[in-house]
Amino acid sequence: MTDLSVANTANQPAFDVDSIRRDFPILSQQVNGKPLVYLDNGASAQKPAAVLDAMDRYYREMHSNVHRGAHTLGDRATAAFEGARETVRSFLNAESTREIIWTRGTTEAINLVANGLAPRLRAGDEILVTHMEHHANIVPWQMVAERTGAKVVPIQVTPAGELDLDSFHSLLNDRTRVLALTHVSNVLGTVNPVMELVGEAKKRGVLTLLDGAQAVPHYQPDVQALDCDFYVFSSHKLFGPTGIGVLYGKAELLEAMPPYQGGGEMIERVSFERTTWNVLPYKFEAGTPAIAEAVGLGAAIDYLGRLDRQAMEAAESALLARANDLVATVPGMEIIGTAAKKVPVMSFKIAGLHPSDIGTLLDQQGIAIRTGHHCAMPLMDFYGVPGTARASFAFYNTLDEVEQLFTALQKIQRLFA
Ligand SMILES: *Cc1c(COP(=O)(O)O)cnc(C)c1O
Repeated sequence: MTDLSVANTANQPAFDVDSIRRDFPILSQQVNGKPLVYLDNGASAQKPAAVLDAMDRYYREMHSNVHRGAHTLGDRATAAFEGARETVRSFLNAESTREIIWTRGTTEAINLVANGLAPRLRAGDEILVTHMEHHANIVPWQMVAERTGAKVVPIQVTPAGELDLDSFHSLLNDRTRVLALTHVSNVLGTVNPVMELVGEAKKRGVLTLLDGAQAVPHYQPDVQALDCDFYVFSSHKLFGPTGIGVLYGKAELLEAMPPYQGGGEMIERVSFERTTWNVLPYKFEAGTPAIAEAVGLGAAIDYLGRLDRQAMEAAESALLARANDLVATVPGMEIIGTAAKKVPVMSFKIAGLHPSDIGTLLDQQGIAIRTGHHCAMPLMDFYGVPGTARASFAFYNTLDEVEQLFTALQKIQRLFA
């Protein structure tokens, strides 16, 4: 296997991809008679044994409902659950665990914020999004806009797949109330200049939400440095379990927002005359939460914390660089999204081939990629394509796998284009 070891200055062990791969049991299997090459990490990432073991141990040794305080198991479950919240707080560098709300994922987190901000929106107000958003950061705002008479306005994208900053500056105006934008594009891999855009928005008193679903698998965001009002992500793209995600929000804004769902846990006191809300973060966590999943997400973040971040980012850059170098070896192949600053995500088309056929033919070789509109139809319209093929890499992928992808693409192009 190609050596992906990257030396580092901190005197820590080098980034050893072979040993890292052994932490992910699912990777060492054959698919369609070939060793699995998993390049669909942008859709969902695989889980290290540390996550599986943490969830297994939780169910075997400490499961009970949380926050009931009636017995020992309940105390253990609560400690594990709230411990995971502290792990997420530390990962994001949030000020307080009161600002960390568990949701089902990015989608639910954005719906929660959109609903929570609805009472502040009036007819004619504007919600700025971008042309490269995932549907999860478009549709909830459209639904709230419909209710309130506000308008959803997209910032334009350049042909290279970067945000058009002139478009941003011309659209940011006195009617703008919210700027909701993706930190990293799931289709293009573009890393947006979020610090700068949040700063500009704040100068005008505009509330800011960053969709971090594709950013957190590659970077560790610092919400205090970013100074965004809300930051959201999903566990399953961060090597944790499905069914849980995170909403970070500034405490004073969360305090001012109405609850999202009603039920148990989110109340202080219920009577038929008057019901009052629980304190943060529980005000937004109606019902029994995803306890084992929170524990699993905490374990995923702990696992990442044991890796050498700098070496991991260098290894990911090397994967993307190798892929870019090999594009010229496939006649008619074109990359969609050539921003200067990218995570290792490669959307592409090949002349004469439908994206879904590329996906099926690669799958026959054991190579998993994603094809289709990637929940970003407006962006597909912008590029005038029905969909793209997308290979998205994680730190456990190897240069050897990048080469296998291109060898397979060369063959597919030769035989079918
Ligand atoms: C995946 C994704 C979402 C939606 O995440 P869910 O886990 O499906 O809720 C939103 N935004 C971006 C950028 C994504 O990649």
